[in-house]
Amino acid sequence: MRPRRAWHDDGVRVLVVEDEASLREGIVDLLQGDGHDVVAVGDGVAGVESGLRTAFDLVVLDLMLPRLDGMEVCRKLRAARPGMPILMLTARGSEDDKVRGLMEGADDYVTKPFSARELLARVRVLGRRNAGAGDAVDSVDADGATLDLARMMVVRGEARVALTPREVGIVRWLHKHKDRVVTRAELLEHVFGQRGDLQTRAVDMAIAVLRKKVESDPAHPRVIVSVKGAGYAWGSVA
Ligand code: CA
Repeated sequence: MRPRRAWHDDGVRVLVVEDEASLREGIVDLLQGDGHDVVAVGDGVAGVESGLRTAFDLVVLDLMLPRLDGMEVCRKLRAARPGMPILMLTARGSEDDKVRGLMEGADDYVTKPFSARELLARVRVLGRRNAGAGDAVDSVDADGATLDLARMMVVRGEARVALTPREVGIVRWLHKHKDRVVTRAELLEHVFGQRGDLQTRAVDMAIAVLRKKVESDPAHPRVIVSVKGAGYAWGSVA
């Protein structure tokens, strides 16, 4: 017989990054009460560390944080985990912050002070969008190497090569969409956090560096394959 855990079935894994202790505890109580699994930290550096280590279904991220501000946290998490939704908490009346937050790749925002109902509604929508999806992949075997995305490194035999958050993001995005070609503009938007295709060379340069780390023969790539006139594709060579 199926165990009774009905209110948990809709729960998602949420990372809360908020420095104000009473608000942080209030949010944690609220989300746990709604059936979510919650990890909470109190500064931006801890937020990045937690978000890089674990695939959350949603990050609730305060804008003003000690050690590393919310915008920078958003940029780093977005680069490494392009599919992980981010809900920004902004200060009352600061329209500029909202716009900037969304520009940096936050998926939505709520303005402080917010009601419990408002926050829970956003968490339910955003958290489920991606629950259990591609960003949960933390290790990929390719071309004789293991791409350890959780520890951000390529392991080939005895050799270990570190990956940057952006490189991890590129690998995640290509692997998540391995059934099709990924365009440069798409990588720019989802991994680099920039719109338009003025800087597609930045993508090509990043791919060239990444290939030196993941390909056994970077001159003849088998993991990240170029598709002429279109972009890049995951080569799925295990
Ligand atoms: Ca704050």
